[in-house]
Amino acid sequence: MTNKLKYFVGNWKMFGDFSSFKIINKINNFYSQNKTFINSKIIFCVPNTLIYFFKQKLKYNSILLGAQNCHHRQHYGPFTGSVNAKMLKKTGADYIILGHSENRASGESDKLIKMKVESALKSNLTVILCIGETLLEKNKGKTLSLLKKQIRGSINKNKNLSKIILAYEPIWSIGTNKMLDPKEIQKIIKYIKSSFLKIFRTRKEPIVLYGGSVNGKNIELISPISEIDGFLIGGASQSSKKFIDIIKNYYK
Ligand code: PEP
Repeated sequence: MTNKLKYFVGNWKMFGDFSSFKIINKINNFYSQNKTFINSKIIFCVPNTLIYFFKQKLKYNSILLGAQNCHHRQHYGPFTGSVNAKMLKKTGADYIILGHSENRASGESDKLIKMKVESALKSNLTVILCIGETLLEKNKGKTLSLLKKQIRGSINKNKNLSKIILAYEPIWSIGTNKMLDPKEIQKIIKYIKSSFLKIFRTRKEPIVLYGGSVNGKNIELISPISEIDGFLIGGASQSSKKFIDIIKNYYK
């Protein structure tokens, strides 16, 4: 078991209603009653409709809450159906996922994501910035150059880099039950960290999560990789048992 802080981040996507608090509550009870997991941080990025309600319920407990996207504008404006980062912060979010491949697939560019990152940082949210390649890009050998382009293109050099967490998610692995070979994961995470240091001329390594079909079984294959600072978990975060199994098996 490692002493380094590890992140377990749930991405609920479009899932859940008020009654789904029971999932969070079970995980929260498990987490607060197990001193073994003191070195882990649990964050749930839930639909905007649930943040305030969950925040009230979790008031004195340990799970943190995040959102999953926002509008790029910092202030109110004529953007029907949109919510900005400031509004999410006021609602109770401390984190926000940006650049998720499901949103990139519907047209979000690095340029737009960069504006969202800036707005989120201004609103004092910690950003979980997703990067990753499609299967086609992987097969063409473009993974590393693409990741570097996404990092460079989505983060402004002068910003508060310590409030940005990167999440490497091979797109072809999301929701498919296919996981990248652990040696490849290690190589890519190392590359992401070293690229970040070079691009932003900093000595402080970024926190880098891994995501893509992580479950209670395959977590054992990747838990020895010390370079991974945590996991972004989609499908399995919608079940308290599956999510708890991931944490238990990680520390086994
Ligand atoms: C995700 O949506 O970020 C994700 C990793 O999903 P899943 O765990 O279901 O592959």
